[in-house]
Amino acid sequence: MPRPRAATAVTFTILAALVAWTWLRSNSAGEGVVLLLDGGRAWGVGSVEGQILLTATDIKFGPHRAWSAETFSVPLNEINALRAVLLDDGKGGTRGRWNFAAHAGQTERLGTGKSWAGTLGLPHWLLITLLLIPPALYLKTRLARRNQIRAGRCATCGYDLRASADKPCPECGSQEHLAPAANAPTP
Ligand SMILES: [Zn+2]
Repeated sequence: MPRPRAATAVTFTILAALVAWTWLRSNSAGEGVVLLLDGGRAWGVGSVEGQILLTATDIKFGPHRAWSAETFSVPLNEINALRAVLLDDGKGGTRGRWNFAAHAGQTERLGTGKSWAGTLGLPHWLLITLLLIPPALYLKTRLARRNQIRAGRCATCGYDLRASADKPCPECGSQEHLAPAANAPTP
């Protein structure tokens, strides 16, 4: 497995924090982005009450709207009414277990005549967990390498460096154990 880079770990941590922020906000309003594709075909991403909604439709708002996007923020009752239409399982359930839900089909309830809509509902925590995998791998690798160096071994190949701690590794040439930061506590 390639070594995760620090920049990757930081980027994914920031993304996870943004999703967590969205999750918090999802309890006071419904927020999201509507993407208008070819011919103004509307797709959307929404966030409401701990659930991320990914919706694809065949509704077209016309070529003048094509290839644009707009954000929205609406009261909870408004987005809940929309969610009920998008995720209606026929039994009135829209949340599913742990906020997982999916529904696709023709409907006339979107107010645009007969149209097709497919929606996937996912919990925010799932996305956050997935986004935190690269930072966790990065930390794990970093700690393992630091422990190798502390044990007097080369962080790259494990060669015993106790007799030559002030030189690059004779086995693989790694200089990681010479870096002043190598033994400093991780911030
Ligand atoms: Zn080495």
